[in-house]
Amino acid sequence: MASDPECLFCRIASGALPADVVARTERVVAFRDLDPQAPVHVLVVPVDHHRDVVALAQDAELLAEVVRAAGEVAAAECGGQHRLVWNTGEEAGQSVFHVHAHVLGGRPMGWPPG
Ligand code: AMP
Repeated sequence: MASDPECLFCRIASGALPADVVARTERVVAFRDLDPQAPVHVLVVPVDHHRDVVALAQDAELLAEVVRAAGEVAAAECGGQHRLVWNTGEEAGQSVFHVHAHVLGGRPMGWPPG
């Protein structure tokens, strides 16, 4: 599905809903998370609607574009050191079912994750 009118991140990606956008290409948008969990917390999404990273992997080129954009955000905002998180499924913490990579950085990270 290219776009879902009911989907929050489709609406942000199209510009129909406001967000603090830090980077944009024709196919990928990066914007700050509304509830940041680290000094740098940016979400990177494809404009087209895909449910999660496994679905996005059907389009390897687009997946690579999202990861490249995430790396560029991290390079610009926290010297390249970051954690890239794809919550996949409700039990793993996914609450918005439009794939998004969390770029988290700007502080030391613990392991294992919660
Ligand atoms: P997840 O729980 O992995 O699906 O991540 C969804 C993320 O979207 C959460 O970190 C939310 O804080 C964030 N979020 C929800 N609504 C918005 C919004 N309107 N603008 C920016 N971030 C949002």
